[in-house]
Amino acid sequence: AMAKRVSIFEAGLKKPQASTARVRVSVRLRPYMSQDDEKNEGPCVRGTGGNSLEIVNWRNTMETMQYQFDAFYGDGSSQQEVYLGSVKPVLTHLLSGQNASIFAYGPTGAGKTHTMLGSPDQPGVIPRAVRDVFQMVREQSVLPSNEEWEFTTTMSYLEIYNEKVLDLLQPKDLKDQDLPIREDKDKNILIPGLTQKLISSFTDFENHFIPASQNRTVASTKLNSRSSRSHTVLLIKVVKSLRRPPFRQLTGKLYLIDLAGSEDNRRTGNQGIRLKESGAINSSLFVLSKVVDALNQGLPRIPYRDSKLTRLLQDSLGGSAHSVMITNLAPEFKYYFDTLTALNFAAKSKQIINKPFTRETVQPTALKRPREESPTRMPAKKKM
Ligand code: ADP
Ligand code: MG
Repeated sequence: AMAKRVSIFEAGLKKPQASTARVRVSVRLRPYMSQDDEKNEGPCVRGTGGNSLEIVNWRNTMETMQYQFDAFYGDGSSQQEVYLGSVKPVLTHLLSGQNASIFAYGPTGAGKTHTMLGSPDQPGVIPRAVRDVFQMVREQSVLPSNEEWEFTTTMSYLEIYNEKVLDLLQPKDLKDQDLPIREDKDKNILIPGLTQKLISSFTDFENHFIPASQNRTVASTKLNSRSSRSHTVLLIKVVKSLRRPPFRQLTGKLYLIDLAGSEDNRRTGNQGIRLKESGAINSSLFVLSKVVDALNQGLPRIPYRDSKLTRLLQDSLGGSAHSVMITNLAPEFKYYFDTLTALNFAAKSKQIINKPFTRETVQPTALKRPREESPTRMPAKKKM
């Protein structure tokens, strides 16, 4: 095919569409934990500024690799900072009938559940977002311009495990039923049979959410636990309905997703059923990464249909939806290769810099010192 030249005018026309469909990528580095570093090697990743980090280059320790993102949250960042910086800005669109999806991505043990759920002392994205949705609904409801409109909020909670869609708000015996994903004539994605609970306060939300999530979050960070192999999806739907004919409705959906661990399960010695599960997770996450890539590159075909997760998110990821991927990273060496994989998925750009990754407590050798201090040396750009 002949290469088509795009004029500046055309390129300019295309731009707004591409930028709304883009998935914002934030990275959060969790604090170093000595119990995750049996060889006592210290961290191998650290922040270098407002939106970048550096990691040791394992091929050449005289170099570090620097990565840039839409936002970077260092190991001292609070739950509040992550929420205000990357999540709250997208919530406002919900009440005007737009969709949004927030993902926590990264290897098991890197802080996905901490980021999404948190703890009673350090509540994460989910409780903060749900509180704010109710706050926004209250504020909107009292506006004179909304006199004729009624707002209702519902929640659904599901898990995608082995490419099956399972309802987490169903009693145990009905939980194992694989629910179908459908698309209506307006291209809205829906799951017939999925429980939807009407919620009118944060307490209502907790009453459904806590019992359902308790059996899932039995703080097990073991590599093979079910929670590290399934995608946990919370859906908050805000419906704005006209109280009189023609009873028009605007629906905004917010997906809050704690993804399966992105680690390479082939290295954990999984067998049989485990291997099958790993395969399914890897392919689901793999499709998600392809979808995000395709959206961010503005490709014409987005492979939503290639996995359950992306099919479910088809109307809430890309297009006019607002999506944020929070990539969680751990700084210890034992995560090194999974960290690189996650970084290469998350990064907007990467640079290799001639500068050894030195630890503050370790004196650089006399040989390395002149290199490090050379003010004229420019960063060398190479592919890894
Ligand atoms: P994941 O869900 O990705 O497997 P977790 O959220 O369970 O990881 O985090 C692993 C461990 O690290 C947990 O003990 C968690 O409390 C802790 N942790 C994760 N992120 C942070 C953070 N930003 N600050 C403090 N502790 C954290
Ligand atoms: Mg987790």
